[in-house]
Amino acid sequence: MDTKQVELRVANLDCDHDASALARSLSDYPGLVDLKIYPKSAKVKISYDADAVDPETLKQKLQQSGFPSQEGRALAEPPALWRNAKVLTSVASGLLLLLGWLLNLAAAPASVSTGLYVAAILSGGYFFGREAWAALIFEHEIGIELLMAVAAVVAALMGEVAEGAILVFLYSISEAAEGYTEEKTRSAIKALMDLTPKTALVRREGREVEIPVEDVQVGDVFLVKPGQALATDGQVVEGRSSVNQAPVTGESVPVEKEPGATVFAGSINGQGPLAVRATKSFVDNTISRIISMVEEAQERKGQSQRWIERFGAHYSPAVLALGFFIALVGPLLYGGDWSDWVMRATVFIVAAAPCALVISIPITLVATLGTGARNGVLIKGGVYVEELARVKVVAMDKTGTLTGGEPAVTDVLSLNDPAGHAAQEIMALAAGIEQHSEHPLAQAIVRHAQSAGRAPVPVSDVRSLTGAGISARLDGRAVYVGSPALFQRLHLPLTGAETPIEWLQGEGKTVVLVGDERGPQGVIALRDTVRPNAPQALQSLHAAGIATIVMLTGDNRRTAQSVARELGIDEIYADLTPAEKVAKVRQLADRHGHVAMVGDGVNDAPALAEATVGIAMGAVGTDVALETADVALMADDLDKLAYAVRLAKRNQTVVRQNLVLSAVVITTLVIGAVAGLFTLPVAVLGHEISEFVVIGSGLRMLRG
Ligand code: ADP
Ligand code: MG
Repeated sequence: MDTKQVELRVANLDCDHDASALARSLSDYPGLVDLKIYPKSAKVKISYDADAVDPETLKQKLQQSGFPSQEGRALAEPPALWRNAKVLTSVASGLLLLLGWLLNLAAAPASVSTGLYVAAILSGGYFFGREAWAALIFEHEIGIELLMAVAAVVAALMGEVAEGAILVFLYSISEAAEGYTEEKTRSAIKALMDLTPKTALVRREGREVEIPVEDVQVGDVFLVKPGQALATDGQVVEGRSSVNQAPVTGESVPVEKEPGATVFAGSINGQGPLAVRATKSFVDNTISRIISMVEEAQERKGQSQRWIERFGAHYSPAVLALGFFIALVGPLLYGGDWSDWVMRATVFIVAAAPCALVISIPITLVATLGTGARNGVLIKGGVYVEELARVKVVAMDKTGTLTGGEPAVTDVLSLNDPAGHAAQEIMALAAGIEQHSEHPLAQAIVRHAQSAGRAPVPVSDVRSLTGAGISARLDGRAVYVGSPALFQRLHLPLTGAETPIEWLQGEGKTVVLVGDERGPQGVIALRDTVRPNAPQALQSLHAAGIATIVMLTGDNRRTAQSVARELGIDEIYADLTPAEKVAKVRQLADRHGHVAMVGDGVNDAPALAEATVGIAMGAVGTDVALETADVALMADDLDKLAYAVRLAKRNQTVVRQNLVLSAVVITTLVIGAVAGLFTLPVAVLGHEISEFVVIGSGLRMLRG
């Protein structure tokens, strides 16, 4: 079977009901392998058997199901107000209601106004009534729509047709309006989408042609004028300029780019014109991936939302049952008019409907995720927002995370030739091996050899020993570059190296040995500088409520301690292999419950995976880090860490406020309903107002 995948934006997909309707209509479609529906971004991801169906047929099927797919990358636009069927039926319902009321005032026969009220109920209730029915029949669910529908029908049967009509009108108009306010939450993603230009100026056969960004191919060279945004990811081939990457990574300071530098879609070119060779097509450039990750994160619900949904699944049926109970038992216990109790029960059902409750969490989450993304913080779902807000302990990798930028070689010693002639050869050999490594120390060694004018010695069979060093073959024998711990683990004698190791480490330097089976032949010391903003970044992390900051490193204890002293680290664990880092993270998680691990996401992927929340720093441009982390900080900037924690905590605060508000409103309405204080219209109005307050409150997360 030849499985392919398409991603399509579709119209009319705006809530979970639509999603289940779409899933139902495609459920037995031949050739469909997997269907993922993202109602919050009106997107479907379809895996299909390319031997059985083609994308065109799939699109036709979507069209027949009532969800036509849209061309282009834009989010599905909501139809204009006057073309939206839900708005139209609701407005019609309001007009019928008004007409009925006026005729009633004008002393027209009761049957005329009653007829108009019934028409108002049918028109306004058409859509949510159908949804209530579909949910009951196909999903065996009793939802809010059903509660409202039952209340309206019962009220009408009891002769309170006007009240029923008011209920239906208010509920339907606020449902229609809710769709439009939810649109606002999408604005954060829309803003990301608008970052890339629609066209690119591409060099083809010596001429410059303007083509749609979607048509730019890997290898094309495109031109970026000063002040223009970049169309897709690429490598600078000509020109020099400072590029503002803030839209993608959230870093405020522009980055200097010269030929060979990597640039990302959506960044804004500074003063100099650039020619860029595209390394990614439009669909998988950085911005497109960020957008698609945020969209998928929106559907990944946190525990509390799942809890509310499970709760809702039992709650609404219970409300309905309790309504019946009140209608039956009320008159028996407390006496009074039977019809009066039926009306009270009806008002109760409406009052107890959990409208605001169910929207509290998702609306806030969508806003939070979008705001994070705009600031270069990608959180992969509601679960991680919750976990991040709860984290008390943050473990951090040292090299490349706490220390940053470019380590520098400070000492090179040859152990066999203390006079120092052979030190140059040690450098050449080390550089020959390290030029195959991406490790910051490796790159420092290569740079040093280059500046000393030594050609790297060619070696073969290079293997990276992650977290320890690297090995290779030279003239048939094995050679190693790595930490003293690596040589010990390989049972190679450290003879002659102990003294220099000790004094170099005593100076806070990182020591790398170069040698073979006989043991180390040379010692290279490097100074890895702490990131300039690290002390204050860690301080704000503490201020954000992180009690303990732990450093995990494969480097030696002495160096680790001298770095930690500068930074205000609470605990240090040094000389760790990658496996020991994982074990340490697990141990911390056992001890403290929730642990975040921060690393570059490439060397430390296993430790990140083990943590409750794995945070990759400097994720832009490193696909592995983007994919594997739970939280990806696009910029290589420690400050974003405290920002992410604060964002998550703010999200939780807003959610808590929303939940409390909804609970208070429901309780008040329920008490009033049972006491017979409120009429049906008051209960609905109370409801809809609280729902809009909750939406507005959730939208606060769009700021910041
Ligand atoms: P950290 O845990 O601080 O991030 P790493 O796990 O990247 O550090 O590396 C731990 C130690 O392993 C380094 O201090 C260094 O001694 C050694 N090492 C790792 N990779 C290399 C390499 N490519 N070349 C030389 N030494 C290396
Ligand atoms: Mg590291």
